[in-house]
Amino acid sequence: MKYEFPVTRTEHPKTKPDPDKLRFGVDFTDHMFIMDYEEDRGWYDPRIVPYGPFSIDPAAAVLHYAQESFEGLKAYKSAEGKVLLFRPDMNIKRMNRTAERLCLPVIDEALFIEAVKALVALEKDWIPDKEGTSLYIRPFVIATEPFLGVRPARQYKFMIILSPVGPYYEGGLAPTKIYVEDTYVRATPGGTGEAKCGGNYAASLKAQVDAAEKGFEQILWLDGVERRYVEEIGTSNAFFVIEDEVVTAPLEGTILPGVTRDSVIEVLRKKGMKVSERRLSVDELFGAAKEGKLKEMFASGTAAVISPVGEIRYKDEDIVINGGGIGPVAQELYDTLYGIQTGKVADTEGWMIEVE
Ligand SMILES: *Cc1c(COP(=O)(O)O)cnc(C)c1O
Repeated sequence: MKYEFPVTRTEHPKTKPDPDKLRFGVDFTDHMFIMDYEEDRGWYDPRIVPYGPFSIDPAAAVLHYAQESFEGLKAYKSAEGKVLLFRPDMNIKRMNRTAERLCLPVIDEALFIEAVKALVALEKDWIPDKEGTSLYIRPFVIATEPFLGVRPARQYKFMIILSPVGPYYEGGLAPTKIYVEDTYVRATPGGTGEAKCGGNYAASLKAQVDAAEKGFEQILWLDGVERRYVEEIGTSNAFFVIEDEVVTAPLEGTILPGVTRDSVIEVLRKKGMKVSERRLSVDELFGAAKEGKLKEMFASGTAAVISPVGEIRYKDEDIVINGGGIGPVAQELYDTLYGIQTGKVADTEGWMIEVE
């Protein structure tokens, strides 16, 4: 192996959580990966250390101006006990595109993948293998330079932490209720919508909280200019099945290019279905629903893989989709993708990377 990361093992291994009671992003494993960056040195000192709090200066740029980025991917254990990663190359490519947008230092693709593999291999006993569970991997970069002026920082940390997770939504593949957001926007052309950064998430919380108060689990974002075209569902990509066409928003700067989104499109096209990356207005969407043409709607993302939508509200109008149940396209996509990820369905695309 080209990279060797020194490992400091924990002296206090934790008790692993009950695999039947796993939630999302609550428990963390025993170790984490960390490396440092200085402007005139580049990235240095990659290492694996016990998981735990670490110190940064109160003036660290990330705490004030949110100069940071993150990624999310998963490791799975197959029935034969193989440890598999789903398309990690896509995550580091996207992380480096986010880095470009937020003036963060880029990371060597091979180093990123080896770092993920080394940490996951060390923590492989933490990978749950019950249906619907996995080990969530959270790489992130933060600006640590103590400086309150506004410019790109000169010091950073890159870290990877791991969390054994159960189904993202407590109801599993149960359809969600979605509120079409017409007050707040997530992204605008020229903004950071296609970058995976914490600032986008902080800015989305208010809409999420307001929708939850009205009894909705998620929001459907509209475009930030005309408030007419559908964009994303919460922090996932959105898909709509209208008659025999599957529609998703095009990647024109305001949409986060999801790895799951890309995989959904690929799987559907391989099955011979028509997939259009095109603008879809909320009027067309509700019009299609009234004519009985809206067959399904679902969200895609690493955390839940596929999450069907059962009901949607825009202003005062409610529509129920597919009788409030899971549609065949969403179900088949979930079975195919989760099947590939866990080694039950043949990986014809070469998406899975084996650890060790
Ligand atoms: C991460 C993310 C997604 C989903 O991307 P995946 O790579 O499929 O997990 C979609 N939208 C937003 C805003 C995201 O941050």
